[in-house]
Amino acid sequence: MQTEFTPAQLADPATAGAARIIRNCVHCGFCTATCPTYTLLGDELDSPRGRIYLMKQMLETEATPTPEVVKHIDRCLSCLSCMTTCPSGVHYMHLVDHARAYIEQRYRRPLAQRFIRGLLAAVLPYPGRFRLALALAPLARPLGPLFARVAALRPLAAMLTLAPRALSTRARGEDSRVAGARGRVALMQGCAEPVLRPEIRAATVRLLNRMGLDVLFAPGEGCCGALVHHMGREAAALAAARRNVDAWTRAIEAEGIIAIVITASGCGTTIKDYGHMLAHDPAYAEKAARVAALAKDVSEVIADQGLPLATIAAGMRIAYHAACSLQHGQKAGGKAADLLRAAGFDVHTPAEAHLCCGSAGTYNILQPEIAGELGDRKAARLAALDAGAVATGNIGCATQIGARLATPVLHVAELLDWATGGPKPAALDPQNQTR
Ligand code: SF4
Ligand code: SF4
Repeated sequence: MQTEFTPAQLADPATAGAARIIRNCVHCGFCTATCPTYTLLGDELDSPRGRIYLMKQMLETEATPTPEVVKHIDRCLSCLSCMTTCPSGVHYMHLVDHARAYIEQRYRRPLAQRFIRGLLAAVLPYPGRFRLALALAPLARPLGPLFARVAALRPLAAMLTLAPRALSTRARGEDSRVAGARGRVALMQGCAEPVLRPEIRAATVRLLNRMGLDVLFAPGEGCCGALVHHMGREAAALAAARRNVDAWTRAIEAEGIIAIVITASGCGTTIKDYGHMLAHDPAYAEKAARVAALAKDVSEVIADQGLPLATIAAGMRIAYHAACSLQHGQKAGGKAADLLRAAGFDVHTPAEAHLCCGSAGTYNILQPEIAGELGDRKAARLAALDAGAVATGNIGCATQIGARLATPVLHVAELLDWATGGPKPAALDPQNQTR
């Protein structure tokens, strides 16, 4: 696609990067077929190709974004299905990330949107605040139906619907070393996952220890920055990235870790992109690239290091949901399913496996109608498999799907831990199946 950026505009590395991406697009439209929002809404402006046009025009003219342009960019899930489909290698992720930062700097959103986005950015990345918000959610829950009736307040209703009814008590993870370890990894602590489902981290530690790996938690590490990054809050996202790069660089230098293990694939996609995000920061570019190169989804580490021998003949029927961030963002969606099969599970994938479940970071809060339709569609496809459990590798998907499905939704690591000698996940006990 021809672009009309001026030399002055191209002197800015971020704009030059966006221009390169746009030029790679040949306007073929293959990506529209696999885009969830185009599939649902049928509007070219809600397709990758349509959005690329909107972004090109907005960036070339340096126009103040219009509400119409913002609407279509906001509706993008950043699921990256278009990147899997595109035959021309268009790096849509970097383009839409840049466009979102541009919009955030130049567009004044309506008051309700500013409030809700500010609230999400101030609460979700901080486990203590998030835990407190979840503890207070039951008090606000009676207001949910009222919020749902007012369009501008529907995100608040969505938050209350997604908030779990029971809260766990465990907080931070502790280093866990094994005698005669053959290696040492840093397990990412992150933000939301240990608050919502600390069982995932516990299972992962047991599994990695069983594989002969010491598991460390790097002091100072926290939210990867994806939540604010997807809202266009570039400065906050880069601050989170720098803090994590510092924390893991200390761990690399002091402990010789061989991998940074990530159990939430949404975070993994962002951490693997730290090298790009900090490429123009001379103080961080090299360190960020090193951290990004060591970042691995837990399924990649297990596949690389070797799954321990299965100790149960599980044979259980599992519906595997590959998170978009894993299958499209990291191109590693198949590893988890292979590991589950190797551990003895009878693994099936649903129809429309490429389509997003609607979780997409804060999307299911900020765009509750589209997210709800996608969530229901995904839950129906998974339910059709009639499995004993759904397995996935991302806490966002687990929350989105779990809110709609009677079948227990587990992390892949929980099932692999069980199959190789760990405890049976509590969610599989009939008395814990509440839906
Ligand atoms: S990231 Fe997903 S929702 Fe956004 S344009 Fe690409 S396929 Fe469509
Ligand atoms: S598939 Fe790729 S090249 Fe074709 S329109 Fe979509 S983004 Fe452009």
